[in-house]
Amino acid sequence: MSTIYCARHLLYTQAPPLDGGALLEQKGRIVALGSLNEMKKSAPGARVVDFGEAVLLPTFINAHTHLELSHYPAWASAVGVSSAPTGFVDWILRLIKVKRSVNPEMMNEAIRYGLRLCLESGTAAIGDILSWFGGCATYADTPLCGRIFLESLGQDLALTQKLYQQLDAVLQQQEISNFELGISPHSPYTIRPKYMRQLFERCRRDHLACSIHIAESVAETDFLNSGEGELVEKLYAAVNWHQYRPEARMMRPIEFLDERGGLFADQLLVHGVQLSRSEIKAIAAAGAQLVLCPRSNAHLQVGTAPVADLKQAGVGLALGTDSLASNQSLSLWDELSFAAKVYADALSADELFALATTGGARALGLQNQLGELKPGLRCSFQVVRRKEPLRTRTLVETLIAEGQGQKIDTLILDGVSVL
Ligand SMILES: [Zn+2]
Repeated sequence: MSTIYCARHLLYTQAPPLDGGALLEQKGRIVALGSLNEMKKSAPGARVVDFGEAVLLPTFINAHTHLELSHYPAWASAVGVSSAPTGFVDWILRLIKVKRSVNPEMMNEAIRYGLRLCLESGTAAIGDILSWFGGCATYADTPLCGRIFLESLGQDLALTQKLYQQLDAVLQQQEISNFELGISPHSPYTIRPKYMRQLFERCRRDHLACSIHIAESVAETDFLNSGEGELVEKLYAAVNWHQYRPEARMMRPIEFLDERGGLFADQLLVHGVQLSRSEIKAIAAAGAQLVLCPRSNAHLQVGTAPVADLKQAGVGLALGTDSLASNQSLSLWDELSFAAKVYADALSADELFALATTGGARALGLQNQLGELKPGLRCSFQVVRRKEPLRTRTLVETLIAEGQGQKIDTLILDGVSVL
């Protein structure tokens, strides 16, 4: 059985939108694209689904999420913690307090809720960070796909070796149909440096996907440079890490990462707000990818990533919402409309759109499956219905500008309607 899907506009990723475009699906894959007449000729018996005055476009890939925190706003208010924007280190302290108040079932519930929110906003794949390993089974029934990065952090030698064993057990035993498991060493300031090296070695040895929060805040660069600052004064004091207070390393984040064996091809770096030109060159030379999270960066008041320099250096870029502990929604439509404002000088509408589609697919190793509408890829797309016709030439700009709160009419994943 074949199906032809058509709409007033068909939006490719790397070609101009096609008016009256159609795509032909067989067994969950796209087999051809063109005009409706061409598709009907090539598959005379095919069922035709016409979305009418609508845009049919690729699904989004949210390259950085923490779905286990999707109920954070409710948890925070239950323990009297404010969700209002705040400085970076104060936010971490709030997060620790809130996380200590939740139990495993609450995390599972939050993951289920987060998966649903992703689908409802046209997302087909995620790069999700998971600290609650018992939550793996919760991803078994979703039509979403992507990577789950098992998060690890800690300073104490005995504790980190116990954590490594737990991580190892999950990596060896757990299989989740649509997801690939990887590792996420949390950040340069929350992990014993030798443990960080051990985690990177494991990723390289077993070709596991890897992701790390890096160069996110000035607090982090101060920490790596002087061994002082807010992270030591507030976070290390709050969690009794006084004895792990570092010496002055006089290092930049990417230098530190490289020294620990963590700068390699397809390493998925997250944030990259505080990057120097030489660090950007090093990221590009290594072939690592970077996820931009502009709304999270604004919420935590850490600055704006140097996107013009990143683009010029040829760093592979993707887009992520981060968690609902530092963002208002898990919608990449919302993220795109915000990114269009903060990266206005650096990225065109097409380049912004690519962050959420081809860039995300590349970042999660899904470039042969998702991110574009073209023959051979999975037949996954979203449909945005329009009251008024759009001008084809400015279609992408208009969609992104109106993206805040964008409602998806239909989401098809592998030829199946999932909403
Ligand atoms: Zn994050």
